[in-house]
Amino acid sequence: MTFSAVIVAAGEGLRAGPGEPKAWRGLGGRPMVRWSVEGLLAAGAREVVVVVARDRLADADEALAGLIGWTAVTGGRTRAESVQAGLAALTAAPTQPVLIHDAARPFVTRAHVERLIAALAQADGAIPTLPVPDTLKRGDGLVDATVSREGLQRAQTPQAFRLGKLKAAYAAWPASEEPTDDASVMERAGGQVAMVPGDPMLMKLTWPEDFMLAEQLCASRRIVRMGQGIDAHRFGPGDMVWLGGIRIPHDLGLVGHSDADCGLHALTDAVLGAIAEGDIGEHFPPSDPRWKGASSDRFLLHAVKLVAARGGRILNADLTLICERPKIRPHRDAMRARIAALLGLPIDRVSVKATTTEGMGFTGREEGLMAQAVVAVETPV
Ligand code: MG
Repeated sequence: MTFSAVIVAAGEGLRAGPGEPKAWRGLGGRPMVRWSVEGLLAAGAREVVVVVARDRLADADEALAGLIGWTAVTGGRTRAESVQAGLAALTAAPTQPVLIHDAARPFVTRAHVERLIAALAQADGAIPTLPVPDTLKRGDGLVDATVSREGLQRAQTPQAFRLGKLKAAYAAWPASEEPTDDASVMERAGGQVAMVPGDPMLMKLTWPEDFMLAEQLCASRRIVRMGQGIDAHRFGPGDMVWLGGIRIPHDLGLVGHSDADCGLHALTDAVLGAIAEGDIGEHFPPSDPRWKGASSDRFLLHAVKLVAARGGRILNADLTLICERPKIRPHRDAMRARIAALLGLPIDRVSVKATTTEGMGFTGREEGLMAQAVVAVETPV
């Protein structure tokens, strides 16, 4: 499932009350726009273009720091102009699916995206809709009429189209009119738009009360995943070892294709394990001469990038080194500081422990050294 996405975050959202425009307002400890970008990246978007107001590019950099696969462009005076600016910035082929999404709907998931893209096989557009449960009245203070809700559906976002067809539909849209969603542009151009089941969780945050409700829901939209990693390397001739990202003088060296930093290898596998992305050997095959003597911090940084690319973040890491020598204690805080820098964590989220095997086994005989790591990662559902 390959798709691109445009997130419209250029509006001022004045109905949400005083303060920051709503896309930039905090929700569950992160700017609201970040929720949609993370959700769409986690759903597999190959590129996400965020359309922001003219003076908001720096805010986007800050709000989306660490995520990979997004760009920001400035929008126009109207939503229609902003959407078109976003479409113009996409690099996808005209036949590729594109999802247009409002930043004010933070809880988009892979399940939503899959339903929409599946429906595109039979239609020019696909939108999530929900029936209208309330009785509808027309009037202002006094009821003029009760309006039949028969056949009425509420339209949500994201809305899915083929990139080329949506661009063409916008090009044909009369400049004097302002569409309230993208499906109406496709309808006007004669396109068929399929309705797929919407979701109350795709609610649009409009009023201050909506933010209070969404704040309660945030916790259920992220999950914590654990990963563990184990590595061992053999001692050989040498006068130092790389361990936990630092260089330690020793009367032996560690043998390996890279710098043989057992600690960083275990941590890399733990991060990969938390996001079910295979193991270090798959990403950096020992048979590949590029990794000969490589500094292992690049392996760990690669795994950290994969977490960021799916909208996740690392919560903490716990590394245990198993050896008789070198003594770890004198180097422990230096290792913690180096690992914290690589993982983008404060040092109090990084633990380094050491143990021996009381002279037993290969670590006891000092044939080699072993490391175990556990890492917790938080990602969108
Ligand atoms: Mg290794």
